[in-house]
Amino acid sequence: APGTPAIGLIEERATATVPRRAAGSTKFSSGHVLVCGGATGLTGAPSMAAEAAMRAGAGYVTACIPASLNLVFEIRLLEVMSLPLPDEGGALTPEGADTVLDEAHRRGGALIVGPGFGRAEPSAALARDLVARAPVPLVLDADGLNAHAGRLETLAAREAATVITPHAGELGRLLEIDSHALDERRLHHVHEAARRSGAVVVLKGDDTLVAAPDGRVAVSRGGAGALATAGTGDVLSGVVAAMLAKELEPFHAAAAAVELHRRAGIEAAHAVGAAEGVIASDVIAALPAAMAQR
Ligand code: AMP
Ligand code: MG
Repeated sequence: APGTPAIGLIEERATATVPRRAAGSTKFSSGHVLVCGGATGLTGAPSMAAEAAMRAGAGYVTACIPASLNLVFEIRLLEVMSLPLPDEGGALTPEGADTVLDEAHRRGGALIVGPGFGRAEPSAALARDLVARAPVPLVLDADGLNAHAGRLETLAAREAATVITPHAGELGRLLEIDSHALDERRLHHVHEAARRSGAVVVLKGDDTLVAAPDGRVAVSRGGAGALATAGTGDVLSGVVAAMLAKELEPFHAAAAAVELHRRAGIEAAHAVGAAEGVIASDVIAALPAAMAQR
Protein backbone atom coordinates (compact mmCIF):
# COMPACT_ATOMS: atom_id res chain seq x y z
CA ALA A 1 0.00 0.00 0.00
CA PRO A 2 1.21 3.58 -0.58
CA GLY A 3 3.15 4.90 2.37
CA THR A 4 3.88 1.45 3.75
CA PRO A 5 7.60 1.32 4.48
CA ALA A 6 9.73 -1.42 2.92
CA ILE A 7 11.16 -3.59 5.65
CA GLY A 8 14.43 -5.51 5.62
CA LEU A 9 15.72 -8.30 7.81
CA ILE A 10 18.70 -7.55 10.06
CA GLU A 11 21.17 -9.99 8.49
CA GLU A 12 23.94 -11.76 10.37
CA ARG A 13 26.38 -9.62 8.42
CA ALA A 14 24.92 -6.49 10.11
CA THR A 15 27.81 -6.86 12.55
CA ALA A 16 30.51 -7.30 9.89
CA THR A 17 31.32 -3.57 9.88
CA VAL A 18 31.89 -3.37 13.66
CA PRO A 19 35.58 -2.36 13.91
CA ARG A 20 38.04 -4.85 15.37
CA ARG A 21 40.71 -3.92 17.92
CA ALA A 22 43.69 -2.87 15.87
CA ALA A 23 47.27 -3.27 17.08
CA GLY A 24 47.61 0.44 17.81
CA SER A 25 44.27 0.76 19.66
CA THR A 26 44.13 2.48 23.01
CA LYS A 27 41.32 2.50 25.58
CA PHE A 28 40.29 5.88 24.17
CA SER A 29 40.38 4.96 20.49
CA SER A 30 38.25 1.87 21.19
CA GLY A 31 35.37 4.16 22.11
CA HIS A 32 34.26 6.16 25.14
CA VAL A 33 30.79 5.62 26.60
CA LEU A 34 29.18 7.80 29.25
CA VAL A 35 26.19 6.34 31.10
CA CYS A 36 23.95 8.70 33.06
CA GLY A 37 21.37 7.16 35.38
CA GLY A 38 20.69 5.37 38.61
CA ALA A 39 18.43 6.07 41.59
CA THR A 40 17.63 4.42 44.88
CA GLY A 41 16.38 0.92 44.04
CA LEU A 42 17.66 1.25 40.48
CA THR A 43 21.45 0.95 40.62
CA GLY A 44 21.53 -2.23 38.52
CA ALA A 45 20.32 -0.60 35.30
CA PRO A 46 23.22 1.86 34.76
CA SER A 47 25.67 -0.77 36.02
CA MET A 48 24.50 -3.26 33.41
CA ALA A 49 24.48 -0.66 30.62
CA ALA A 50 28.06 0.29 31.54
CA GLU A 51 29.31 -3.30 31.69
CA ALA A 52 27.53 -4.19 28.46
CA ALA A 53 29.23 -1.26 26.71
CA MET A 54 32.63 -2.59 27.88
CA ARG A 55 31.82 -6.16 26.80
CA ALA A 56 30.72 -4.83 23.39
CA GLY A 57 34.17 -3.33 22.92
CA ALA A 58 34.09 0.19 24.36
CA GLY A 59 37.54 0.91 25.79
CA TYR A 60 36.60 3.46 28.43
CA VAL A 61 33.27 3.81 30.25
CA THR A 62 32.21 6.44 32.76
CA ALA A 63 29.06 6.13 34.89
CA CYS A 64 27.47 9.45 35.91
CA ILE A 65 25.44 8.44 38.93
CA PRO A 66 23.81 9.90 42.10
CA ALA A 67 26.55 10.95 44.55
CA SER A 68 24.77 9.46 47.55
CA LEU A 69 24.87 6.05 45.81
CA ASN A 70 28.48 6.37 44.62
CA LEU A 71 29.78 3.66 46.93
CA VAL A 72 27.47 1.10 45.32
CA PHE A 73 29.02 1.83 41.94
CA GLU A 74 32.60 2.00 43.25
CA ILE A 75 32.19 -1.49 44.66
CA ARG A 76 30.12 -3.03 41.90
CA LEU A 77 31.93 -1.67 38.85
CA LEU A 78 35.66 -2.34 38.80
CA GLU A 79 36.54 -1.28 35.25
CA VAL A 80 34.06 1.60 34.98
CA MET A 81 34.91 5.07 36.32
CA SER A 82 32.17 6.76 38.32
CA LEU A 83 31.39 10.45 38.20
CA PRO A 84 29.15 11.40 41.16
CA LEU A 85 26.38 13.92 40.44
CA PRO A 86 24.16 15.93 42.81
CA ASP A 87 21.06 14.04 43.96
CA GLU A 88 18.06 14.40 46.24
CA GLY A 89 17.32 11.22 48.13
CA GLY A 90 19.13 9.19 45.48
CA ALA A 91 17.38 10.85 42.51
CA LEU A 92 19.50 12.86 40.05
CA THR A 93 18.84 16.61 39.78
CA PRO A 94 19.36 19.14 36.94
CA GLU A 95 22.43 20.59 38.70
CA GLY A 96 24.48 17.66 37.40
CA ALA A 97 24.06 18.53 33.72
CA ASP A 98 27.24 20.56 33.23
CA THR A 99 29.43 17.87 34.79
CA VAL A 100 28.10 15.29 32.32
CA LEU A 101 28.32 17.65 29.35
CA ASP A 102 31.89 18.74 30.20
CA GLU A 103 32.94 15.08 30.28
CA ALA A 104 31.21 14.47 26.93
CA HIS A 105 33.01 17.49 25.44
CA ARG A 106 36.35 16.37 26.85
CA ARG A 107 36.27 12.71 25.84
CA GLY A 108 33.71 12.46 23.03
CA GLY A 109 32.17 9.06 22.36
CA ALA A 110 28.51 8.32 23.07
CA LEU A 111 26.15 9.14 25.96
CA ILE A 112 23.39 6.93 27.39
CA VAL A 113 20.64 8.76 29.27
CA GLY A 114 17.93 6.92 31.17
CA PRO A 115 18.88 3.58 32.75
CA GLY A 116 17.51 3.57 36.31
CA PHE A 117 16.64 7.28 36.25
CA GLY A 118 13.34 6.78 38.05
CA ARG A 119 10.37 9.09 37.60
CA ALA A 120 11.22 11.98 39.96
CA GLU A 121 10.57 15.31 38.18
CA PRO A 122 14.05 16.78 38.88
CA SER A 123 15.59 13.70 37.24
CA ALA A 124 13.27 14.06 34.25
CA ALA A 125 14.36 17.70 33.93
CA LEU A 126 18.01 16.58 33.92
CA ALA A 127 17.25 14.03 31.20
CA ARG A 128 15.60 16.69 29.03
CA ASP A 129 18.50 19.13 29.54
CA LEU A 130 21.11 16.49 28.64
CA VAL A 131 19.20 15.47 25.54
CA ALA A 132 18.84 19.08 24.42
CA ARG A 133 22.54 19.92 24.91
CA ALA A 134 24.60 16.73 24.52
CA PRO A 135 27.20 17.32 21.77
CA VAL A 136 27.76 13.58 21.19
CA PRO A 137 25.68 10.66 19.82
CA LEU A 138 22.97 9.76 22.34
CA VAL A 139 21.11 6.63 23.39
CA LEU A 140 17.86 7.48 25.17
CA ASP A 141 16.18 4.67 27.11
CA ALA A 142 13.76 3.84 29.92
CA ASP A 143 12.76 6.80 32.16
CA GLY A 144 14.86 9.08 29.96
CA LEU A 145 12.21 8.31 27.33
CA ASN A 146 9.34 8.76 29.78
CA ALA A 147 10.75 12.25 30.53
CA HIS A 148 9.93 12.98 26.86
CA ALA A 149 6.35 11.67 26.88
CA GLY A 150 4.40 13.76 24.37
CA ARG A 151 7.60 15.67 23.45
CA LEU A 152 8.93 13.44 20.69
CA GLU A 153 9.51 16.39 18.32
CA THR A 154 11.95 18.05 20.75
CA LEU A 155 14.46 15.34 19.81
CA ALA A 156 14.56 16.65 16.25
CA ALA A 157 16.42 19.78 17.43
CA ARG A 158 19.50 17.74 18.37
CA GLU A 159 22.59 18.13 16.20
CA ALA A 160 24.38 14.88 17.05
CA ALA A 161 22.87 11.45 16.32
CA THR A 162 20.08 10.07 18.49
CA VAL A 163 19.00 6.45 18.97
CA ILE A 164 15.98 5.78 21.17
CA THR A 165 15.25 2.29 22.50
CA PRO A 166 11.61 2.13 23.69
CA HIS A 167 9.49 -0.93 24.38
CA ALA A 168 5.83 -0.64 23.35
CA GLY A 169 4.80 1.07 26.61
CA GLU A 170 7.53 3.70 26.30
CA LEU A 171 6.85 4.40 22.61
CA GLY A 172 3.13 4.63 23.39
CA ARG A 173 3.88 7.35 25.97
CA LEU A 174 6.14 9.21 23.51
CA LEU A 175 3.43 9.15 20.84
CA GLU A 176 0.56 9.58 23.33
CA ILE A 177 -1.27 6.51 22.08
CA ASP A 178 -2.11 3.41 24.07
CA SER A 179 0.21 0.46 23.77
CA HIS A 180 -2.54 -1.82 22.37
CA ALA A 181 -3.11 0.56 19.45
CA LEU A 182 0.65 0.65 18.99
CA ASP A 183 0.94 -3.14 19.01
CA GLU A 184 -1.59 -3.39 16.18
CA ARG A 185 0.48 -1.18 13.86
CA ARG A 186 4.06 -1.47 15.10
CA LEU A 187 5.62 -0.91 11.67
CA HIS A 188 3.55 2.20 11.01
CA HIS A 189 4.23 3.72 14.43
CA VAL A 190 7.97 3.05 14.54
CA HIS A 191 8.29 4.62 11.09
CA GLU A 192 6.28 7.66 12.20
CA ALA A 193 8.26 8.02 15.41
CA ALA A 194 11.55 8.05 13.48
CA ARG A 195 10.23 10.58 10.98
CA ARG A 196 8.90 12.92 13.68
CA SER A 197 11.89 12.69 16.05
CA GLY A 198 14.74 12.61 13.56
CA ALA A 199 16.06 9.74 15.68
CA VAL A 200 16.75 6.10 14.93
CA VAL A 201 13.97 4.27 16.79
CA VAL A 202 14.52 0.75 18.14
CA LEU A 203 11.06 -0.59 19.03
CA LYS A 204 11.89 -3.53 21.29
CA GLY A 205 9.93 -6.74 21.62
CA ASP A 206 10.22 -10.31 20.42
CA ASP A 207 10.40 -8.85 16.89
CA THR A 208 12.48 -5.71 17.45
CA LEU A 209 12.07 -3.10 14.71
CA VAL A 210 14.70 -0.48 13.84
CA ALA A 211 13.58 2.62 11.92
CA ALA A 212 15.60 5.56 10.56
CA PRO A 213 14.22 9.06 9.87
CA ASP A 214 14.89 8.55 6.14
CA GLY A 215 12.41 5.64 6.01
CA ARG A 216 14.70 2.61 6.35
CA VAL A 217 13.14 -0.07 8.58
CA ALA A 218 14.64 -3.41 9.58
CA VAL A 219 13.41 -6.24 11.77
CA SER A 220 15.42 -8.51 14.04
CA ARG A 221 15.79 -12.19 13.16
CA GLY A 222 14.24 -13.19 16.52
CA GLY A 223 14.61 -16.53 18.25
CA ALA A 224 16.07 -15.10 21.45
CA GLY A 225 13.22 -15.58 23.94
CA ALA A 226 15.89 -15.80 26.64
CA LEU A 227 15.96 -11.98 26.48
CA ALA A 228 12.47 -11.72 28.00
CA THR A 229 13.82 -10.96 31.48
CA ALA A 230 14.58 -7.84 33.55
CA GLY A 231 17.67 -5.86 32.66
CA THR A 232 18.17 -6.98 29.07
CA GLY A 233 16.96 -3.59 27.81
CA ASP A 234 19.74 -1.91 29.81
CA VAL A 235 22.22 -4.31 28.21
CA LEU A 236 20.98 -3.32 24.75
CA SER A 237 21.43 0.39 25.49
CA GLY A 238 25.07 -0.27 26.41
CA VAL A 239 25.68 -2.19 23.20
CA VAL A 240 24.09 0.53 21.04
CA ALA A 241 26.28 3.15 22.74
CA ALA A 242 29.42 1.06 22.19
CA MET A 243 28.57 0.89 18.46
CA LEU A 244 27.94 4.65 18.28
CA ALA A 245 31.23 5.29 20.14
CA LYS A 246 32.95 3.29 17.39
CA GLU A 247 31.45 5.82 14.97
CA LEU A 248 29.11 3.47 13.14
CA GLU A 249 26.34 5.29 11.26
CA PRO A 250 23.38 5.40 13.71
CA PHE A 251 20.99 3.05 11.84
CA HIS A 252 23.81 0.53 11.33
CA ALA A 253 24.92 0.95 14.95
CA ALA A 254 21.40 0.18 16.15
CA ALA A 255 20.95 -2.80 13.80
CA ALA A 256 24.36 -4.25 14.71
CA ALA A 257 23.58 -3.84 18.42
CA VAL A 258 20.19 -5.55 18.09
CA GLU A 259 21.85 -8.47 16.27
CA LEU A 260 24.71 -8.76 18.84
CA HIS A 261 22.16 -8.65 21.67
CA ARG A 262 20.02 -11.33 20.02
CA ARG A 263 23.05 -13.58 19.51
CA ALA A 264 24.22 -12.99 23.09
CA GLY A 265 20.77 -14.07 24.33
CA ILE A 266 21.06 -17.33 22.39
CA GLU A 267 24.67 -17.84 23.57
CA ALA A 268 23.65 -17.16 27.19
CA ALA A 269 20.89 -19.80 26.98
CA HIS A 270 23.49 -22.34 25.80
CA ALA A 271 25.92 -21.29 28.52
CA VAL A 272 23.48 -21.60 31.44
CA GLY A 273 21.58 -24.56 30.00
CA ALA A 274 18.04 -23.16 29.58
CA ALA A 275 16.50 -19.98 28.17
CA GLU A 276 14.33 -19.65 31.29
CA GLY A 277 17.40 -19.45 33.52
CA VAL A 278 19.11 -16.61 31.68
CA ILE A 279 19.56 -13.35 33.61
CA ALA A 280 20.73 -10.10 32.06
CA SER A 281 24.25 -10.50 33.51
CA ASP A 282 24.56 -13.75 31.51
CA VAL A 283 23.72 -11.79 28.35
CA ILE A 284 26.52 -9.31 29.17
CA ALA A 285 28.94 -12.20 29.69
CA ALA A 286 27.92 -13.69 26.33
CA LEU A 287 28.53 -10.49 24.34
CA PRO A 288 32.16 -11.36 23.47
CA ALA A 289 31.01 -14.68 21.97
CA ALA A 290 28.39 -12.76 20.00
CA MET A 291 31.09 -10.31 18.83
CA ALA A 292 33.33 -13.22 17.79
CA GLN A 293 30.68 -14.33 15.26
CA ARG A 294 31.31 -11.31 13.05
P1 AMP B 1 13.12 -3.88 28.30
O1 AMP B 1 11.69 -3.96 27.87
O2 AMP B 1 13.67 -2.51 28.29
O3 AMP B 1 13.38 -4.59 29.60
O4 AMP B 1 14.00 -4.67 27.21
C1 AMP B 1 13.80 -6.04 27.00
C2 AMP B 1 14.71 -6.56 25.92
O5 AMP B 1 14.42 -7.94 25.72
C3 AMP B 1 14.51 -5.90 24.56
O6 AMP B 1 15.75 -5.87 23.87
C4 AMP B 1 13.53 -6.83 23.86
O7 AMP B 1 13.64 -6.79 22.46
C5 AMP B 1 13.97 -8.19 24.39
N1 AMP B 1 12.85 -9.12 24.46
C6 AMP B 1 11.78 -9.05 25.28
N2 AMP B 1 10.95 -10.09 25.06
C7 AMP B 1 11.51 -10.84 24.10
C8 AMP B 1 11.14 -12.06 23.43
N3 AMP B 1 10.01 -12.72 23.75
N4 AMP B 1 11.97 -12.54 22.49
C9 AMP B 1 13.11 -11.88 22.20
N5 AMP B 1 13.50 -10.72 22.79
C10 AMP B 1 12.71 -10.21 23.72
MG1 MG C 1 13.84 -1.01 29.67
